[in-house]
Amino acid sequence: MTSLTDLSLSQMQAGLTSGEFSSRDLVQAALDRITRLEPSLHAFLHLAGPRALKQAEAADAQRKGQSSRPVSPLLGIPVAIKDVLTVEGLPCTCGSKILEGFIPPFTATSVQHLTEAGMIVIGKTNTDEFAMGSSTENSAYGVTHNPWDLGRVPGGSSGGSAAAVAARYVPAALGTDTGGSVRQPASFCGVTGLKTTYGRVSRYGLVAFGSSLDTVGAFGRSAQDVAAVFSAMAGHDPLDATSAQVAVPAISLEAATGSKAEMPLGGLKIGVPKEYSIPGTQPAVEEMTRAAVDVLKALGAEIRPVSLPHTEYALPVYYIIAPAEASANLARFDGVRYGPRAPARDMPEVFYRTRGERFGPEVTRRIMIGTYALSAGYYDAYYGQAQKVRTLIRRDFEAAFQEVDLIAAPTAPGTAFEIGAHANDPLAMYLEDVFTLPANLAGVPGISFNVGFDQRNLPVGLQLIGPYFREDLLLCAAHAYQQVTDWHVRAPAL
Ligand code: GLN
Repeated sequence: MTSLTDLSLSQMQAGLTSGEFSSRDLVQAALDRITRLEPSLHAFLHLAGPRALKQAEAADAQRKGQSSRPVSPLLGIPVAIKDVLTVEGLPCTCGSKILEGFIPPFTATSVQHLTEAGMIVIGKTNTDEFAMGSSTENSAYGVTHNPWDLGRVPGGSSGGSAAAVAARYVPAALGTDTGGSVRQPASFCGVTGLKTTYGRVSRYGLVAFGSSLDTVGAFGRSAQDVAAVFSAMAGHDPLDATSAQVAVPAISLEAATGSKAEMPLGGLKIGVPKEYSIPGTQPAVEEMTRAAVDVLKALGAEIRPVSLPHTEYALPVYYIIAPAEASANLARFDGVRYGPRAPARDMPEVFYRTRGERFGPEVTRRIMIGTYALSAGYYDAYYGQAQKVRTLIRRDFEAAFQEVDLIAAPTAPGTAFEIGAHANDPLAMYLEDVFTLPANLAGVPGISFNVGFDQRNLPVGLQLIGPYFREDLLLCAAHAYQQVTDWHVRAPAL
């Protein structure tokens, strides 16, 4: 018998509409499954059980009372939120001891849009501290385990959200992507993850890491489910000065470019960048992603080589810019404005004891690197230079998108690694992001979805990268792929 948690978002929508089950049933089923499996997964930092049940009852009442007026398609559907996005009244720790016990007084715009559409926040998911990492091992509250292999990481930093969707706790979840933190965990957990265009989704209520790179994204089991969440949360927000004044199109997934039903991607040009073939990529990743590109070709897409010549500089440029911005953003956590305060004799001691005791090693490392890169004598040599190279990386994409509609590449060089494998080697951890960082530096959107499994039965993700504001194209292409394959419906045995 399929249980309610097995249902995808679209199936939940259908059952709620037909009255087969209620939102309360869905939320209760999610909470039961979470209670049973959390001891082995640890995807959540906080659960909002009683509050979610109450909201579900209100959603059910609304659905009954409004039979004449159309209800929002997301009404009554559970969602999980990465713990770097604020939800009024729920703790927001960012996976850090420096925000232990902090309860924000307002809700992030992205989350607000979802709750206004009727979605029900089940809880806040685990993350690397302040979203710095690729495995959730940097969370001050313990690692999340990959649902496909409990000895391995779920990816990061949005590993809790990716694991929550893969484990069938919830049909959808929000994450954030500064350098790959939606796409890489989506790849490791075998789910679909969308990184939005910079400025597409409001950053208001997202605790800032790298302000010029941070984006809010969504996880689901399919492109169709992700499209529903994306459409609800995107759009201009006066509360975020970098939010774009660009209309969000209604996404019609069937309406890719092709006219013939069996060739839905007919006329679409997909570029395969030669710079994304690098030594060290696992053979299974190469093989599966190549096979996935063949499927896209069979669906009508024209595949051609493209070049993004400055790709090799993305990693060093990111690891100057992201820490530089982080060092400035994290200055606000000083034991005075937010969270707990270390006992001290005077103000300077408050600052350095609170920060010294409560930031973890990776955050401390980034603050030191960032402060150094921004310091008077080194600004031009590091930060200024990195910004110039960033422009070249952005231009690479602009030039490539003159020739092709989308770019295809692996999401990550490997599948999920063992917990502890990179524990003493931050550089090895940084290398996890080689294929995802360039899109953040350019600000363009990307999607990762499951295209097979390696010999250990670990999911492999394909990444598609699109031009600015073309999330619709990414979702259409992923949807077309998912219509003719079934990798995305496979579930881990838990
Ligand atoms: N893994 C990258 C980092 O550690 C990206 C993180 C992210 O996208 N939030 O910075």
